[in-house]
Amino acid sequence: MIETDIVIIGAGPVGLFTVFEAGLLKLRCHLVDVLPRPGGQCIELYPKKPIYDIPGFPDILAEDLVYNLLKQGEQFQPGFTLGESVISLQKQIDGRFLLTTDKHTQLIAPVVAIAGGLGCFQPRKPEIARLETFEQKGIDYSVKHPQDYQHKKVVIAGGGDSALDWTVCLADYVSELTLVHRRNAFRGAPATVDHVQSLVRQGKVTLCTPAEVVALHGDGHLEAVTINHNQQDKQLKVDHFLPLFGMSPKLDVFREWGLNLEKNAIVVNPRDYQTNIPGVYAIGDVNTYPGKLKLILCGFHEATLMCHAAFEMINPGVKSSLRYTTVVGVEGFDGTHKPAHKSVLKSFE
Ligand code: FAD
Repeated sequence: MIETDIVIIGAGPVGLFTVFEAGLLKLRCHLVDVLPRPGGQCIELYPKKPIYDIPGFPDILAEDLVYNLLKQGEQFQPGFTLGESVISLQKQIDGRFLLTTDKHTQLIAPVVAIAGGLGCFQPRKPEIARLETFEQKGIDYSVKHPQDYQHKKVVIAGGGDSALDWTVCLADYVSELTLVHRRNAFRGAPATVDHVQSLVRQGKVTLCTPAEVVALHGDGHLEAVTINHNQQDKQLKVDHFLPLFGMSPKLDVFREWGLNLEKNAIVVNPRDYQTNIPGVYAIGDVNTYPGKLKLILCGFHEATLMCHAAFEMINPGVKSSLRYTTVVGVEGFDGTHKPAHKSVLKSFE
């Protein structure tokens, strides 16, 4: 059982920034995300795109923003449960919330911050008979550890960034790698397409286009796939098949918890971003209120106000205080102290 002050559902940019704001108020956080790595949409949908509207950064790559947010929160030692989705929320007799994931991890906290973005990212699955039979037995929808594919025969299917990026990455590990795509043209970043083409020329990747995986074979574990290539079926021996067709988000689970939803978002009070369940807050893309804008900077603002409200809920009768980090510095839970940089302000005078 993981005990903390705030369980944050969703490790997108808004969830990650919550760790920092909560830490300033001496509140500990634990994040849960269904994806295998933090970053939400920034990492899953556009890691290499520059963002131009993060205050103080004329431009920053989405993946660099996530890295910086992780660095900024590091001193507050957040816990992470990745690759698991929160599926239930129950109020306990002592007022705290018990949350359970699809892999039976249990978490308990007085405050829950839902930073679930567009919802639980779930893999888009191809329609192939017996697909479920081989899930985790040769079929994976995301790569957690490239080493798992060391010296294996792998088929990747897809034509977007995810399929191309993992083709480039896994080429160094596997014994055989085939990339299958329905069309001859790819949708991914042109530089990555070029990289894949050069791996094809070096004989490290076999390209199969226009083609589709149409059947799966094996007894217990996946042993082969049938690829329809140029209208002809051929069977290929494989250890792993990775259909990487992207992720589609789902919000259904939050509806089941009794939260008020409107237009596929959780209704909150814009004073502190609390939902209709006291102690449960919703911040970032997942919420709605009059004038809501689905922008990262708005999510950061919501996270800040929400943390102050959470502090007062966890410490009844104590008012949360606003202290400038330039004046008091930042003290992590491990006692490390980043001093206030008073001279920084001076140099701008
Ligand atoms: P998300 O980034 O969506 O993260 C939510 C996380 O919650 C996900 O990782 C999801 O897996 C997880 N999750 C959800 N439900 C569960 C559950 N039940 N259990 C476990 N995990 C769960 N914004 C800007 O401000 N500027 C831009 O220039 C900009 N450009 C964009 C370009 C593109 C192509 C896209 C798609 C978006 C862009 N955005 C931009 C929007 C921005 O990415 C979002 O506003 C931001 O990601 C919202 O952050 P978030 O943390 O609220 O949610």
